[in-house]
Amino acid sequence: MLKGKTALVTGSTSGIGLGIARQLAAQGANIILNGFGDADAPRAEVLQAGSAHGIRVGYHGADMSKPADIVDLFKFAESEYGVVDILVNNAGIQHVANVEDFPVEKWDAVIAINLSSAFHTTRLAVPGMRAKNWGRIINLASAHGLVASAGKSAYVAAKHGLVGLTKSVALETATTGVTCNAICPGWVLTPLVQKQIEARAEKGGISVEQAQKELLGEKQPSLQFVTPEQLGDLAVFLCSPGASNVRGVAWNVDGGWVAQ
Ligand code: NAD
Repeated sequence: MLKGKTALVTGSTSGIGLGIARQLAAQGANIILNGFGDADAPRAEVLQAGSAHGIRVGYHGADMSKPADIVDLFKFAESEYGVVDILVNNAGIQHVANVEDFPVEKWDAVIAINLSSAFHTTRLAVPGMRAKNWGRIINLASAHGLVASAGKSAYVAAKHGLVGLTKSVALETATTGVTCNAICPGWVLTPLVQKQIEARAEKGGISVEQAQKELLGEKQPSLQFVTPEQLGDLAVFLCSPGASNVRGVAWNVDGGWVAQ
C-alpha cells in the first residue's frame, strides 16, 4: 500500500517510534529512522519488516531539540529520498516534578522535543507534500494531550500544544491531499514508562510488578498496556485511502483512560 513512499519517523530507535516504523515498512514504505543510541539493531529490524518490498532504510541522528539539526535532517531526507511523504512526529521525553520544583532546563527540553520539533519538521515537510498533493502527518501526542496528571506540567502542556498544532495544520491543508492527525496513547510499556514504574516502585518500597499494576489501575481501565504494534496499525490506517478525509483528530488508544 505504501510502496514508493518515504516515511520519516522521529525518535524511532526505541519503543513506539520503532513499532510504527516497522509497520509502515511492512506496507512497503522506505523509512528514515532517527533517535539516540544504537541505530544498527533498529535498522535491521525495520529492513526485515519491509523485506518483501525491498525497501530502503536510512538513519539520521538529529537531536530534535535543535532546529538546525532538524534542517540538516530534511536536507538528508530530500537528497537521499526526495520528498518526505509520511512524517511521524514521535520523539519525546518525560520529566516528573511538581511545577514549583520543575527544573527550568527540563521544561525547555520537554517543550523543545515534544512540541517545537513537530513545528520544525512540519514546516519543512508541508511544501513537498503540497507539491505532490499527498502527505500524511501523524503526531504522537498522548492521553496527556487530552487530560492532565499532577507532576507532568511540561509534558501535558507540550502534548496539549501538539494536539492544537495538529488541528491548525489540518485546517491549513484541508482542501489538499495532505492530512494531519494525532494519536493519543495511554500507557505503553516502553523505556519511557519503565523508568516511571521503577521510580514508583522505589518511592513506594514496592516491587516493580506491583508498581506496574498500580500504574495501570490508576488510569487505564483495560488494565492492559497499549502496544507499539496497535499504534502502528492505526498509523497505517491513517496513511490509507480510507483515512483521506480524517483531519485534525486526536485519536485516543488508551484502554479507556479518557472515557472516565
Ligand atoms: P522511548 O523512550 O522508548 O523512545 C523515545 C525515542 O525518542 C527514542 O528513540 C529516543 O532516542 C528518541 N529521542 C529522545 N530525545 C530525542 C532527541 N532530543 N532527539 C531525537 N530523538 C530523541 O519512548 P516511547 O514511549 O516510545 O515514546 C514515544 C512517543 O510516544 C513520545 O512522544 C511519548 O511522549 C509518546 N507517548 C508514550 C506513551 C507511553 O506510555 N510510552 C504514552 C503516550 C505517548
